[in-house]
Amino acid sequence: MRILIVEDEAGIVSFLKQGLEEEGFVVESASDGQTGLQLALTEHYDLLLLDWMLPKLSGIELCRSFREQESHTPVIFLTAKDTVQDTITGLKSGANDYIKKPFHFEELLERIRVQLRSSETPHVLTLGPITVNTETHEVQIGITPVSLTHKEFQLLEYLLRHKGKVCKRHHILDSVWGMDGNADSGVIDVYINALRKKLNLQREEDYIQTIRGVGYIAREK
Ligand code: CA
Repeated sequence: MRILIVEDEAGIVSFLKQGLEEEGFVVESASDGQTGLQLALTEHYDLLLLDWMLPKLSGIELCRSFREQESHTPVIFLTAKDTVQDTITGLKSGANDYIKKPFHFEELLERIRVQLRSSETPHVLTLGPITVNTETHEVQIGITPVSLTHKEFQLLEYLLRHKGKVCKRHHILDSVWGMDGNADSGVIDVYINALRKKLNLQREEDYIQTIRGVGYIAREK
């Protein structure tokens, strides 16, 4: 799972980064709102942690602009502002949750987990005739069940969750194989080939397409 922190206080960033990485998250950070927005819109993150008062673009402005283009990724505000009006403004800008500084790391972690769980819906992902149920782990082509290994399933799920977007190789490795795995990126091609075979995608342009030198994209025709 990848988290973007947009925060201009270096001490908070390193505290959060260390704590979240110990919990197995892959963490990137930006120290101003503009860079944060650019990253949020061009990279894939599973969750954004935004400070409110930021140089160049405030967390609120960042969140509003992000929501104009993306409605799925959960956003949590981290901020010293704590009046009811501030909370309302934060939530109206499209944030999912709000935690005020100073906070306990454990509480933040729990809030992150709640958001990640609820953003996991829908449980059924589709790609053309392929359906993937992320609760039961059943995969079907039409009504025919397909048997995948655990890693094949995780890879397919990752591609479908980002359907229509290019999935970069290092992001696939981070998310499916984990940051501490010894996997090198050649392993992705091996698994993609296996998936194409099992899903009966005979041509490379069928649903899971290779973007040379970059990664893969799951796309409806
Ligand atoms: Ca700040």
